Amino acid sequence: MNLSAQLMRTADRDPSKEAYIFQGESVSYLEFNASVTKFASKLHELGYGKGDHIALVSGNSPLFMIALYGSLRAGATVIPINPTYTVDEMSYILKNGDVKGVITMDVLMDKFEHMDAHLSVQDYFVADTGAESRESLLKAKMKSFTKTISEGDVNFKAPELEQEDVAVILYTSGTTGKPKGAMLTHKNLYSNAVDVAEYLQISSSDRVIATLPMFHVFCLTVALNAPIMNGGTVLIVPKFSPPEVFEAAEKYKATVFAGVPTMYNYLLQTGKDQVHTFENMRICISGGSSLPVALLNDFEKHFKVRVSEGYGLSEASPVTTFNPLDRPRKPGSIGTNIKNVENKVVDELGEEVPDGEVGELIVRGPNVMKGYYKLPEETAVTIRDGWLYTGDMARRDDEGYFYIVDRKKDMILVGGYNVYPREVEEVLYSHPDITEVAVVGAPDPQSGEAVISFVVSSNPSLDEQELKEFCQGSLTKYKQPNRIHFMEELPKNTTGKILRKSLREKLSQR
Ligand code: AMP
Repeated sequence: MNLSAQLMRTADRDPSKEAYIFQGESVSYLEFNASVTKFASKLHELGYGKGDHIALVSGNSPLFMIALYGSLRAGATVIPINPTYTVDEMSYILKNGDVKGVITMDVLMDKFEHMDAHLSVQDYFVADTGAESRESLLKAKMKSFTKTISEGDVNFKAPELEQEDVAVILYTSGTTGKPKGAMLTHKNLYSNAVDVAEYLQISSSDRVIATLPMFHVFCLTVALNAPIMNGGTVLIVPKFSPPEVFEAAEKYKATVFAGVPTMYNYLLQTGKDQVHTFENMRICISGGSSLPVALLNDFEKHFKVRVSEGYGLSEASPVTTFNPLDRPRKPGSIGTNIKNVENKVVDELGEEVPDGEVGELIVRGPNVMKGYYKLPEETAVTIRDGWLYTGDMARRDDEGYFYIVDRKKDMILVGGYNVYPREVEEVLYSHPDITEVAVVGAPDPQSGEAVISFVVSSNPSLDEQELKEFCQGSLTKYKQPNRIHFMEELPKNTTGKILRKSLREKLSQR
């Protein structure tokens, strides 16, 4: 029961089936699996195995997939890292994560040259045609990724893996301080991929667009592991752009798309003439942050496709709920428990609250991480009595559907009343001219905190007063925005999540 062994089974069962398509070229499961085995054999020969940590720093590409599965097959633990991270961000993770090997691209080698002296990295496996001839201070440690694969042994027998062995460490930004490494075991990742695939009925006839960053757990489980374990085809779109998504959808008759709400927004804004593009799309999956109800409805109506919102977090490998396919999906809801996973809404004392009441969402199941790497105290705070405390506020309705109200730390306290940014955002988003919105709290001498909105509008003549009046009809006085700032674009991270933190910083600078 691990991802790499499952890939082997898929390759045995269906060798000629397309595993992935990248830049117009398709690669079969037989070829994909052979590259994985050969890479694993070389890693093994070079002394990599259980307990060794390999950082994977790459954009969406076959390299990422071969490196991930190959390192797992060799028994090593993979640490996927966002390639756009700065030298400081990256070196913190490489050091804290005790990384022995790095798999990366030639264009990123400059970054590693700046940090290598402070690290204990032994090898850099570098993919690029220029890597061999490149001048580098790290030349002695550099190995060509392609050459390493070509020299591998396709008959390599992989070591036995234990369910509780750590497969992947994901560094999450966390709420405070430095990023923490969530340790996900083989069991965690395997079980979540199985449960997600079953819930979304992913099969070998599915063609899944992978445009979310592969280093993020949402893409990892939903767009890579779930289709690969069922013999589906991964359509690699290296960087999200609406034209490339439309092209992949049309050319390769994609059946599944996974994205964050800002992606759905861009696709809708730019896809006015793409009414038939998603004709073969069986389901569009949204997660990562809340999908505004107006956006969900407009998207479904325009593209004539079903959108299912789910919820997850790195610490849960990641999925815990999804809107079901065989029962009604409820707009604004993150859906119901996926198989084998329990979700519960609790009060400050950890007691379950009645349906309809707001509390913290907690999760239990085979997908819940082993803990944070080298942080036993933080782990004990986050996982209590086997339940993972998510830090998200939620409620459940009487049919078992959950609704994320907001992150605990994003709640705004106005004169003693709780204001959840999401509620205000939903109202602003329902204005026809508003294309992006985020709401944050700012210190206020009278009420403690004030509700501040940041919006992007498609209508240059829309003004603050008009929008404030628009909110008055739907929000009680204390929830109405005190100030509304118009922006060209809202700040987002590489996954596409809106960064409320940088908006707060903007406010404090003012
Ligand atoms: P990450 O660990 O980067 O995957 O981020 C996990 C966080 O994303 C969760 O704790 C939630 O705050 C947020 N999140 C994920 N899915 C949703 C959703 N459907 N609605 C609202 N927030 C979400």
